Amino acid sequence: MTAAPSESSPSSPQLTRHVTSGGARIYTVGVNAFPHLSANVFLIVVGDAAAPSYTALLDTGGHDAGSTGGLALGLEAVREQYGEAWSWETLSRVVISHVHPDHLAGLPFVQTLTAAPTAAHALDVATIRNPEAARDAAIPGTEALLAWAGIESDYATRFRNRARNLMLPRAARIDTVLHGGESLDGHFEVIHTPGHAGGHICLRLHDILLCADHLLPHNSPPLMPERAHVGGGLAHYLASLDCVEALEGVTLALGGHGGPMPDWRGRIWQLRERYQDKLQAVLDAADQPATVQALTLTLYPNISRVQALLLLDQTGALAEYLAATGRLHEQAVAGRASLFQRVQQGKKG
Ligand SMILES: [Zn+2]
Repeated sequence: MTAAPSESSPSSPQLTRHVTSGGARIYTVGVNAFPHLSANVFLIVVGDAAAPSYTALLDTGGHDAGSTGGLALGLEAVREQYGEAWSWETLSRVVISHVHPDHLAGLPFVQTLTAAPTAAHALDVATIRNPEAARDAAIPGTEALLAWAGIESDYATRFRNRARNLMLPRAARIDTVLHGGESLDGHFEVIHTPGHAGGHICLRLHDILLCADHLLPHNSPPLMPERAHVGGGLAHYLASLDCVEALEGVTLALGGHGGPMPDWRGRIWQLRERYQDKLQAVLDAADQPATVQALTLTLYPNISRVQALLLLDQTGALAEYLAATGRLHEQAVAGRASLFQRVQQGKKG
């Protein structure tokens, strides 16, 4: 029942290659974004290998030397092992899928090597350009979340520490603001997929979907309540699953962690079922009025320190969704934590 990413950490950069129906090559470089979290960075090459007409980098991994060094080595290997004449000098484009540090934090490093214009979703632009201001602006929202969810003592301290000490990436340049629905550089279809993150985007090139953390092969993407994160939450996430599922002609999805997903539609079904199970578990736990923290501790009595914040966030997102869809009653009292209780099914006449 964990929402925590649990990828293995390769000791050296992993490199895989996929070719789209239109002949473009997509190279997946696995980097150690954090010491215990591998993340995928993608290099896309269009045109003749000896003289590509378009090259783009999607995501940048983490900020420390282990990640950036692995990225540089992996990208060099694309040139050496596959004869792709790409270079930092001629790179056409950099794209950030969403602002989480395992995808974004390598961007300042990348921008020291290339002048390629960088694109991100409109909701993420302020955070990328000025991470410290974005962090400070989010602190009142964290306090409101703690009050709403009844998060107390040690857990509250850890939430506050997370809000203040987020592994803040350094500020970086954004040249192109995306909204979703547009074509980027005449190559990518941009699909806005809020939920896991408000500014999360997927890119489609021919028959391959680059879906970052929207679809992952092994994990359900962590969610935060929408009230604490614009564009976050389960309602947005499920709507984004519907939106992606409706894409015609996609034969492969490549996510931000883990391996390729040929059966990406099956994965969407699994993820929906996973969230239905999680929703049912929250309903089952809410036979008496309870705060989000109390529900979380009922669901996960042996909650570990590492997982506590992710699971409190997740239970908050689930309770928020159940209240909005009329299955939990939310008793909101000004200045106090909301109490959630299962709505009894009305008797049928
Ligand atoms: Zn993420």
